[in-house]
This record gives sequence, structure tokens and C-alpha cells, in this order.
Amino acid sequence: MTATSVPPTAPDRTRATMGALFDIWSEPASRAIEVAPRAWSVCAGIVNVGVIETDEGLVLIDAGLRQQGEELRALVRSVTSAPLHTVVFTHGHIDHALGLGPLLEETVEQTGSRPRVLAHRNVPARFERYLRTAGLNSSVNARQSGGPATWWPTGERDFVWPDTVYDDRMTLRVGGEEIHLRHAKGETDDATWAWMPGRKLLAVGDLWLGVCPNAGNPQKVQRYAEEWADAAEEMAATGAEAMIPGHGMPVTGAAAVRERWLDAAELIRHLVDHTLAALNAGRTHEQIVRSLELPEHLAAKPYLQPYHDRPEFVVRNLIRRYGGWWDGRAANLLPAATGDQARELVTLAGGAGTLVDRAYRLADTDLALACHLAEWAALGEPDNPTAHRCLSELFERRYAAEPSFQARGIFRDAITRSQAALDRLGAAENTAT
Ligand SMILES: [Zn+2]
Repeated sequence: MTATSVPPTAPDRTRATMGALFDIWSEPASRAIEVAPRAWSVCAGIVNVGVIETDEGLVLIDAGLRQQGEELRALVRSVTSAPLHTVVFTHGHIDHALGLGPLLEETVEQTGSRPRVLAHRNVPARFERYLRTAGLNSSVNARQSGGPATWWPTGERDFVWPDTVYDDRMTLRVGGEEIHLRHAKGETDDATWAWMPGRKLLAVGDLWLGVCPNAGNPQKVQRYAEEWADAAEEMAATGAEAMIPGHGMPVTGAAAVRERWLDAAELIRHLVDHTLAALNAGRTHEQIVRSLELPEHLAAKPYLQPYHDRPEFVVRNLIRRYGGWWDGRAANLLPAATGDQARELVTLAGGAGTLVDRAYRLADTDLALACHLAEWAALGEPDNPTAHRCLSELFERRYAAEPSFQARGIFRDAITRSQAALDRLGAAENTAT
């Protein structure tokens, strides 16, 4: 097998393909695309909703973001006037399960009753967890998207709670046709994919995003790589001719759908096999991540690119799943305070300026290493504007070269914090004069 190593920083092609993330997730922003007879992939904002018209009414697969609920209602009504019969949540992420409000109100007004709302049993459990961890999740989401704090549900009434939950599989019969719901784990532990054999159509939520499977997110709860591969192979075997993903354009053509799932499964299994073999051989976390190589034929697939998650992050997530959090360095087990470590380093170097100079010199050849030095400099002398300026500039370069949305968010956060420190130091200087 030919292999290509995973570079610590982005490959040259990254800049050329950054636009692709925008294309597959955002352009055009709102649309309704007919993917099978009387079945549409409706995109409100950047989130897809499956709209399936049956003789008994509409089956909606997902409901989008709360702030796009009215837009979703209008888009659905631009293609069909059928009443809402059933709603299925493919998972409980806030961008997929919270936009039902306006359609729900309309349905209750028209029919006097609420549509059936279905999900896997872990969806309400997720909603409960979201309420217990609202502060954590709103800050993680803000950091991930590189922006200010976003709205996060804080009360039970912020959710539409499923009235029916299932465990492994469930078959719906609506308007004389069957919709098979299958539970899967992948990015989440509460996933459902829907298979409509009469239309040869899959609706899969975030199990398919057209990028490297999001099974590694550095800031979020455990992901489930192996189960994702199992589900991928099952979906490849359905013979589906079209697929509605959670984000991005629908996939059409039986060969295209099958190829995507088999490639995703192969990539995931490669990451799992690599991690388990290395863990069993007694390798450290760092050795496991740094020795990762991707098969060339998978690394080249446009729909497996690391625009959201990175393969290295998936490996780290697997390490967490099977091992403990200790990283293999004895000093890190019960470590000295980071600030104390940084002050010692800065003192030994004769001041943060030495680290900053070296960081700038390294930046063209090893930007990752240069960022470490800049970070130590800023931690060791938190009131030194030169250190914060260096950190901010080097992470700007890192940000610009980085394909992964998740990594970019964390780099952006570092830049923002250093710029806040510069503002604070500037303000202090002004007060002093
Ligand atoms: Zn999503």
C-alpha cells in the first residue's frame, strides 16, 4: 500500500481547497433540491432537512437551527403544501433539532394536533446533558466557530422533545410506504439514518458531511469511530441512488453513494487499526499520532478532506476511548503549574525576547515549533506585548494555512486572547502616562 504521511501543518493544496468547504457547506445558502420523486433536500442556512411527501402527509428528517425555523418553514412550503405528519431527528445537535417551531405551530393551527416526533433514545438524554452543560457547550461552540458566544438552550422548553424513541431499529409506515430507521453511532451516540427503499433514498444527518469523518473533535465528548464504519458499510449495501447529508450538497447516483461510504469506512478502519496496533505495542500518544500515515488513494478523495475534523484528532479520540489521559511523560502526571514552567524557561533563556526571536526565525521552516516558543514566551511573561504580538502573528499564519474548521477555531481563540492581552497592556500603558 502506498501511503502519504499526515503533515503537521497544512499541505500546499489547502489554500486552493479552502473555498471548497464554503462551497459544500454554504453555497447556495438556502435551497430546496428534489433528490427523488416528491423528496427534497431543503437547506436553511447551512443545515439540510429531508422533506418526504407521502399520501398521508410530510415526513421531515431533521429540523435545522432555531434561528432558521421560519426560513425552513417557507422553503418547505415552497415545494409542498402537504401537512406535517412525522418528524425524525437524525441526532440531537442544536443545528439539526431545534428549528421545528414555526412548522410545528403551523401544523397545530391547521390540524389541531402535533405531528409525531421520533428519535433515538439517546436524543432526549443528549438534551438533558445539554442543559447540565450549557455554559461549557456554548463556550466550546463559540471557540469552535471562532466567534462570540452563540445562543445555547438553557431550559426544557427550548427543545422539541421526541414523543417516541427507539433503540436499534424502527420501521415507519406512512402513506403506504416504509421508512426504515436505523440507529448508529459516529460523531454522536444518538444517530439515526433513514432508508426509504421505495425511493432508493438515504437521509443520514451528520453521518455524511462530505469531509473527513468528524470522529475526533478536540473539544467535545467521545466519538464512535468503529460503529461509524459499521454503519457506513451497511449504508453502502442499501443500493441507495441518492443521499441527503446533514450539510452540503446531496449525493446522487448509486455508484457515488456506495463509493463514498466504502471509502469512509476504509479510512475509519485504517485509523482504528493504526491506533489499536500502536497502543498494543506500548507506544506513547505522541508516537501514535506522529506515526500516522494515510493510504494515498483515500487521502486524495475530495470528500474525505480534513476541512472539519483531522485524522490526527480521530486517532486522539480513539486513544481516549481505549486508554487513559496520561500522555506518557512522567512530569505531566502531577505537573508543576504551567506558569511556573514557562517562567523558568523564560528566565533560562534570558527573557521572553530570546524565545520570540527564535520563534520568528523558525516560523518559515517549522511553524508548529515556532508557535510553542511564542506560547512559552507569552505564558512566561504575560505582560510582555512583544510575546503576545509574536503569538498572535504566528497563530494568524497557522490559521491561514489550516484546513480544519475545528483547529482554526482554536487558533482563532489563541489570537483573540493575545489581542485582548495587547489591548489590556496598551490600556495600562496609556493609564500610566
Ligand atoms: Zn450538523
